[in-house]
Amino acid sequence: MKSLGSNSPIELQILAAITKVVGAGPVALHEPTFEGNEWLYLKECLDSTYVSSVGKFVDQFEVELAKFTGSKYAISVVNGTAALHIALKLAGVTQNDEVLIPALNFVASANAVTYCSAIPHFTDSEERTLGMDPRKLREYLMRTTNQIGGHCINSSTGRVIRAMVPMHTFGHPVDIEGLLAVSRDFNIVLVEDAAESLGSYYSGKHTGTFGSLGILSFNGNKIITTGGGGAILTDNQNIATRAKHLTTTAKVPHRWSFSHNEIGYNYRMPNINAALGCAQLEKIESKIQAKRDLYDLYRKAFAPITGVTVFNEPEKCRSNYWLQTLCLSSEYSERKEQILEKTNDLGIMTRPAWNLISSSEVFKSCPRMDLNVAEFLSHTLVNIPSSPSIVMNYD
Ligand SMILES: *Cc1c(COP(=O)(O)O)cnc(C)c1O
Repeated sequence: MKSLGSNSPIELQILAAITKVVGAGPVALHEPTFEGNEWLYLKECLDSTYVSSVGKFVDQFEVELAKFTGSKYAISVVNGTAALHIALKLAGVTQNDEVLIPALNFVASANAVTYCSAIPHFTDSEERTLGMDPRKLREYLMRTTNQIGGHCINSSTGRVIRAMVPMHTFGHPVDIEGLLAVSRDFNIVLVEDAAESLGSYYSGKHTGTFGSLGILSFNGNKIITTGGGGAILTDNQNIATRAKHLTTTAKVPHRWSFSHNEIGYNYRMPNINAALGCAQLEKIESKIQAKRDLYDLYRKAFAPITGVTVFNEPEKCRSNYWLQTLCLSSEYSERKEQILEKTNDLGIMTRPAWNLISSSEVFKSCPRMDLNVAEFLSHTLVNIPSSPSIVMNYD
């Protein structure tokens, strides 16, 4: 396609820039690549007959995950939402607690908070990271909470604010240092949602390893996939043991007797999924490199377009660039529908950032701070095709 002048409609300029990088459609938003030992390990798993709840791939995947992230322990589970549920429970979240989560977010953490009979409390984001804003949060907590008996009490609801769950949006690290300081100063446990950020680092340390607990997801659209899956990360041996116990039906180990010493969950990752995960993890570096290269291609393609930028990793961070993100200036926010329509009509899959969870029917009565930045971002961010295969096939 010829490049278009800056006076043609913005949706056509954007379409031209994307197709310059990805070629003609159809192009998925994100598709997995299987370029390593996937077939080999899956066959080995089938041949062993251990496809289900036990097997060597589960143990191997957990060891490799811990090694890759630098976490002392990794406990694999059935999906990222289940990982969040158990991580919150182990962080001490119980009935009627409040949990701070970003409003600009996938719904998983709000659901997981609710599974604990607790209440999501929505927080604003910052443009610099697309994640929770520690300065705004600190100022808000100073105004609206009291410290009583070592707990952070919401003065308008009287409930304990037990935990916060910052999330690394589209793979870009949040200001985790700032949030850890808020967590310490206000006695709020920090659980990190690193579902999107496997392979992303803040000051050289892997995301998901800063809080008391962190979680990962291996859903089909994430940077590596196990079909469906997730993991809990922790450096605390006690918490790791509890996480394994709770996610495997709380069964007391015994050769034949079924005895369960508390209400457990059948959240384990099947061995066949872990087999896929082991193969995927072996190739993660090439996927990250492909995504970082894809960012460079998009950055160059979008450079001539005023009012549209491709989101760049925050300072001090190395991002996995899981989903490439266009940031529209406010003047173009009302052209978002045309941008989505034009690209999707031609098979170039794009999608807007999430609607704020705080505005969904089910969560609309939950407490919240001012959300004007999250609001702005939800109207101006557009994700564009991000598969590593785009670069691997580029010439
Ligand atoms: C993918 C994702 C999860 C977990 O999702 P599952 O599909 O349950 O594995 C949690 N939080 C965020 C931000 C996610 O993107």
